[in-house]
Amino acid sequence: MRILLIEDEPEMASVLKTALERQDFIVDRTATLADAEIMAKVGTHDAIVLDRRLPDGEGLDLIPRLRAMNVDTPVIALAGINDRVVGLNAGADDYMVKPFATEELVARLRALHRRQFTLRADRIEVGRLIYDFRDREALVDDKALDLPRRERLVLETLIRRPGRAVMRRTLEEAVYSLDDEIGSNALDAHISRLRRKLEEAAAGIEIRAIRNIGYLLRTLP
Ligand code: CA
Repeated sequence: MRILLIEDEPEMASVLKTALERQDFIVDRTATLADAEIMAKVGTHDAIVLDRRLPDGEGLDLIPRLRAMNVDTPVIALAGINDRVVGLNAGADDYMVKPFATEELVARLRALHRRQFTLRADRIEVGRLIYDFRDREALVDDKALDLPRRERLVLETLIRRPGRAVMRRTLEEAVYSLDDEIGSNALDAHISRLRRKLEEAAAGIEIRAIRNIGYLLRTLP
């Protein structure tokens, strides 16, 4: 899950970014409304965490501007206790009062994400592999594969679209934040480790490279 974090206080921003990354979120961070608008317009975030008091204005003003551009990414606004009603009226999907526990923010982000995908199954089965999106586990014969963060994010992205090619850029967006230095072969290295593990576990699926496009996950013929 990729988050756009708009928070100008450096300490708060870095605490949140670290806490979210520890929970496997990919976090792009900015401190101003102007930058946030540019980044949100690209539209690849699953949720926006929006501080209200920003150096170049009121955070909530961003919401109508995004909606006008057809960016419907859900927003969790952050601010003082008296601002709550204003926040929900301004179109925020959820509201958190500072100070809050980061665990609470994580829980709300996951809830927002689930709401967006209510029609999606919590578990997807391809070949002999079951991916459980609640526990975030890949299982073959009830045995969990040992997947580090980026390999798991690659698998989650591919298994949502079995049998369909997924663009390289989509995979990179699911796995890296804008701050990450991405070597040109980094994604391929994650894929090849993931492939090896799928093969060792006899998962009955393969990940095929599609030249000039990306990758495709499917059951072995
Ligand atoms: Ca602030």
